[in-house]
Amino acid sequence: MVKEYYRPGTMEEALAALAAGGTALAGGTFLLAGEAHGTKPDIGRIVDIGKLLPTGIERTGAFLVIGAGATFQDLADSKACPPQLRAAAMTMANRNTRNRATVGGNLGANKSCASLVPLFLAAGASLEFRTEAGPSRSVPVESWLAAPEGIVLSVSVPLAAGVLAAGSRASRTACDLATCTTAVAYRLEAGILKGLRVAMGGFGPRAALRADLAALFEGKSLPAKETIEAIALPLLSAKADHRGSAAYKSRRGAVLLADALHAAEALS
Ligand SMILES: Cc1cc2nc3c(=O)[nH]c(=O)nc-3n(C[C@H](O)[C@H](O)[C@H](O)COP(=O)(O)OP(=O)(O)OC[C@H]3O[C@@H](n4cnc5c(N)ncnc54)[C@H](O)[C@@H]3O)c2cc1C
Repeated sequence: MVKEYYRPGTMEEALAALAAGGTALAGGTFLLAGEAHGTKPDIGRIVDIGKLLPTGIERTGAFLVIGAGATFQDLADSKACPPQLRAAAMTMANRNTRNRATVGGNLGANKSCASLVPLFLAAGASLEFRTEAGPSRSVPVESWLAAPEGIVLSVSVPLAAGVLAAGSRASRTACDLATCTTAVAYRLEAGILKGLRVAMGGFGPRAALRADLAALFEGKSLPAKETIEAIALPLLSAKADHRGSAAYKSRRGAVLLADALHAAEALS
């Protein structure tokens, strides 16, 4: 239950309130929906940071810089965004939710089925965050996700020339939680995959980089989809639930990975 709602006027006030034990609220599509279903412990004091967060989406040098307050719909509508990221935003099928759900909230919620997190991880994105303790810091997305702290201000996605990236998602219906998600990024040099990064969701409590899967294909030419599926399948283990059996989810993940690797190659 939310006991207290507080909307600070400045970032400093927000950081102080969070340091005193408050919980940040941006769009509220995770925090409040989860609470409504009784899946969260007592939230206590909510600190509404929604109006304090940057919302711009712009290309700065070799990076796409996304304000943490940008919504999924902002991403989907942004001409600065690469098509893969716009497509990832559109995997949140419900427009009402896209209008509220923020990029920072997607990182803060850090759900296994998150739509944006796998692409951020595969692309080698970094994020800028602030705590009460000092000035803002920039760290790789995976580092912040491993030990979240403070308020995320922005995400910087590298747009290095020649890097091919693609993501894919499987779910029972368009509006359902994802069964699994995948994103990959690599360079193709003389037909060889270089610098491959693979991120997957649905195979653990959080979406995560999968160095073990990347190692299967790094430094090699891209195999046929059937071969990728066969090689990747033994490394994918999922928990059965109402969205599918463990065997189904693993098989689905292997297919998604093959699809994403080939979709990225098709961009070359
Ligand atoms: C109907 C419905 C459909 C959904 N579909 C999808 C989907 O397809 N894909 C998907 O990924 N998610 C989905 N979600 C979950 C949710 O919408 C996303 O996780 C969303 O990105 C959360 O953003 P928010 O701004 O609403 O975050 P909030 O609910 O406000 O906050 C989420 C968490 O992040 C923290 N937080 C918020 N902003 C920041 C910040 N700037 N810095 C640090 N921490 C922060 C909060 O404290 C909280 O713990 C869905 C939710 C609903 C209700």
